[in-house]
Amino acid sequence: IDFEHCGFPDILNHNLKKSGYEVPTPIQMQMIPLGLLGRDILASADTGSGKTVAFLLPVIIHALSESKTPSALILTPTRELAIQIERQAKELMSGLPRMKTVLLVGGLPMPPQLYRLRQRVKVIIATPGRLLDIIKQNAVALCGIKTVVVDEADTMLKMGFQQQVLDILENIPSDCQTILASATIPTSIEQLAGQLLRNPVRIIT
Ligand code: AMP
Repeated sequence: IDFEHCGFPDILNHNLKKSGYEVPTPIQMQMIPLGLLGRDILASADTGSGKTVAFLLPVIIHALSESKTPSALILTPTRELAIQIERQAKELMSGLPRMKTVLLVGGLPMPPQLYRLRQRVKVIIATPGRLLDIIKQNAVALCGIKTVVVDEADTMLKMGFQQQVLDILENIPSDCQTILASATIPTSIEQLAGQLLRNPVRIIT
């Protein structure tokens, strides 16, 4: 099995190859087909497993369709992680038409983020506090979001972001696909998954 048999657009196959990704990792093998089907997913996935590419590929495929507002939201606990995710997303999306990303994270000035947000971005990569600020300013359209990823959910809880994540998801269409990725799955994550996911599939790596 390799990526070339997934039926992705040629540009995406080219980008995967260019990044040196030829054979999917175990989590990618599980998450990509389920993600493409639109299933909600609870994945236990450590850094290094290839989880970022695993959720980015379904996110990108779902975001390819025509729309004027953002299609995907990726929530992550830290700015550094958000920057890494955006870098991988840009690599994979390079050359795909009308596929822009925006980084909405704390610790960086807000005006350039708001400016970028108005450039017909498709994928939002955000930390909870900054995104909530921007939601409160009515400066982001979340009505077209089709896929939400909550990455490093256990770290989110440890950093006290649970309520902020829930508040953000209140603003997302209720029929959207949700992917929860977490290094560990303690009871608190099970509970969060119970609140956020509908009939989820579990992926364990
Ligand atoms: P992650 O678990 O998302 O932090 O990814 C860990 C590292 O694996 C990243 O540096 C990726 O560039 C790399 N990676 C992801 N998918 C693959 C793949 N299919 N083949 C080789 N490397 C990969």
